[in-house]
Amino acid sequence: MKRVRFRDPAGSIRTGVLEDDGTPPRIRFGNQDYEFRSEDIDILPPCEPSKIVCIGRNYADHAAEMGSDVPDRPLLFLKPPNTVASHGDVVTLPAGKERIDHEAELGVVIGEQCRHVEEADAMDVVAGFTCVNDLSNRDDQRQEQNWVRGKAFDGAAPIGPVLATPDEVPDDAAVRSRVNGDLKQDGARSQLIFTVPELVAEITTYLTLEPGDVIATGTPEGVGPLADGDHVEIEVEGVGTLEHSVRLP
Ligand code: MG
Repeated sequence: MKRVRFRDPAGSIRTGVLEDDGTPPRIRFGNQDYEFRSEDIDILPPCEPSKIVCIGRNYADHAAEMGSDVPDRPLLFLKPPNTVASHGDVVTLPAGKERIDHEAELGVVIGEQCRHVEEADAMDVVAGFTCVNDLSNRDDQRQEQNWVRGKAFDGAAPIGPVLATPDEVPDDAAVRSRVNGDLKQDGARSQLIFTVPELVAEITTYLTLEPGDVIATGTPEGVGPLADGDHVEIEVEGVGTLEHSVRLP
């Protein structure tokens, strides 16, 4: 099942089920039915994270393209709630930077408050999966330890368009990005160095995850810079495609 949060024509926030086997895709909410992407509704992020826990260098080919080694334990950093952006948004990027990259990622949405979760139980606390673009301001990321300017600027985490339950997303699900229609990244969940259960166990050793929190599991090779007006698509097989554009002020 694919769940969509959206704002209906009356302005109320609803959670419906995406029926994407027809054209156009529809959102079912009770006995009402809305066209996905119609002008009447706004697609919202499928969850409201208190934090996004991001994983650095979790694909060997991406670590190599960044000139880095694969870490011996998951490399963790945070994106706070101000970074969340929606499917269909225009994200305003920080001004005056040489290089702000797209990073296509499988997002794990947490379903219940949890701490000290064992790997074997990790999928019990996972509500499902979504797409994340871990927008990355390399100019500042290279200069700072904690990546606040580099990774936590407003709108730096477009999320969506749906929350797909775990049964929808294959173990080798493709993780892709396109910019203006050109394929840039084409990886797979099966290439993750640290798996989803390993990440849940490691993160909850140190901190409590809340319902709606997101783990952004890292990006495959092919990251690259965005320019004013670019249209970005982040696809995770089984979830769908998150679309947004960017502008430079
Ligand atoms: Mg990333």
